Amino acid sequence: MYKKNKAILSKILPQIQKDGIQNIINGQSVPAISGATFDNHSPVDGEFMGNIAKSDVKDIDAAAKVAAAAFKTWRKIPHKERRDILYAIAEKIEENAEEIAVLESYDTGQPIRFMKKAAIRGAANFRYFADKVIDAPNGLSTPDTNHLNFTVRQPIGPVGVITPWNTPFMLTTWKVAPALAAGCTIVHKPAEFSPASATLLCRLAHEAGLPNGVWNLVHGFGETAGKSLTEHEAIKAIAFIGETGTGSLIMQQGAPTLKRVHLELGGQNPTIIFDDADLERATDAAIFMKYSLNGERCTSGSRLLLQRTIYDEVVKNLIKRVGNLKVGDPLDPATEIGPMIHPTHQNKVISYGEIGLKDGAKLVVGGGKPAGKGCYVHPTLFIDATKDMRISQEEVFGPFLTVIPFDTEEEAVEIANSVRYGLTAYIWTKDSARGHRMALNVESGMVWVNSQNVRHLPAPFGGVKYSGIGRDGGEYSFDFYMETKNISVALGDHPITKLGV
Ligand code: NAD
Repeated sequence: MYKKNKAILSKILPQIQKDGIQNIINGQSVPAISGATFDNHSPVDGEFMGNIAKSDVKDIDAAAKVAAAAFKTWRKIPHKERRDILYAIAEKIEENAEEIAVLESYDTGQPIRFMKKAAIRGAANFRYFADKVIDAPNGLSTPDTNHLNFTVRQPIGPVGVITPWNTPFMLTTWKVAPALAAGCTIVHKPAEFSPASATLLCRLAHEAGLPNGVWNLVHGFGETAGKSLTEHEAIKAIAFIGETGTGSLIMQQGAPTLKRVHLELGGQNPTIIFDDADLERATDAAIFMKYSLNGERCTSGSRLLLQRTIYDEVVKNLIKRVGNLKVGDPLDPATEIGPMIHPTHQNKVISYGEIGLKDGAKLVVGGGKPAGKGCYVHPTLFIDATKDMRISQEEVFGPFLTVIPFDTEEEAVEIANSVRYGLTAYIWTKDSARGHRMALNVESGMVWVNSQNVRHLPAPFGGVKYSGIGRDGGEYSFDFYMETKNISVALGDHPITKLGV
């Protein structure tokens, strides 16, 4: 498999190195209007991955105008036709799943063992929302005595989608699939560190029959291209995934044009294991939820809260398992942890080793980085931490776990809720009443009891506090991408107050 992945890469990489990566506006690949580009490099070995269009306000304006023009027809296209185009995109993704996975892995450093599934899940997202196209406009009937009131849902208009670098392909499908199903048109600005897979996806969507202008892709930096997108008058809403600080900026930038915003932001999520839990399963899940996807995962269980009665036993096992994690080339199917996305992020993750030691926590595995090329870090485990330490409060976003002991259920809740974030929580206990109580008392948008994160597409996905505003998933996505209109029709000659008689 490793050899095959390398062979796929050597087939696709030279083309990208030669042609670079351009914008896609109105179905055409075009350079930035200014002609400017920036370089992209793989975090695996620093290899050049092409010149990327460095867009600015002019490119965003061109793309937004195209999206506004295309909205007039895309919103009216027969539902079955729109549904079939989404099915066709899903098929295209499946046909190209291997290439997508290899490209994503090499561009982001994410291990291929996870990226293979990400491509397939991306296809599933399109298929799920294809099935919802026909019902998306459905509303409520609220009859009154003299009027029949009913609501319909209509697409909000052209929307901006801004995505991060951690799993860019799958996250793009989460936003784009429901937006297209709703009848919106799109201007998408992917993260500057990971431009490759979004471009391939947009190209495949056009090959699958998506009309020109419906989905436009503009590369560039957040402070220029991203900012212009959030400020553009023609763009009615911004679906954003990224850091909390950026989310706050996006609200400010969008305020003058009254943008609707959906923000999926950072997390510092607790995994809480009580002493009556199935410790083997709980430990497996705790390790998976922190060290999968390089720990660059918003829903990571970054703080492990362990009841003191089982603390030593679980910690001993963790030390062994984290020490065994296989770090290496993400294209190797045996690899469990690949490189961080970029040298700046690699340095950030490493810096938390120093911060943890200064805080007074005990470093038992990792810290620092291996010698050699690539943005690798050693998987890291800190124990004996307290809730107020920076390694317990801040989002490290790497293979870095902080273990905190607790004695009682009340203390576990207090520690869990002591951070500004509130995305997910994972509770492990065989006491069903306690599992339910904990689920109600932890401050987060999503809770899993006796489970790792298992995404169910109709279920709402999103955070509270500094982890975000709004929900994705099933019908919740349509609350964002559609407007609810009330229509009231008189049933007869009801009284009308006469004025000026
Ligand atoms: P980031 O906020 O730095 O960048 C995200 C995107 O925003 C990029 O495309 C960037 O170019 C753009 N951007 C930056 N400044 C902008 C501005 N002023 N206006 C408009 N756009 C701007 O985030 P990142 O470092 O790429 O991603 C990591 C973060 O994403 C982590 O905090 C992680 O928790 C979060 N994340 C959240 C979820 C979720 O569902 N809650 C999922 C994945 C990642």
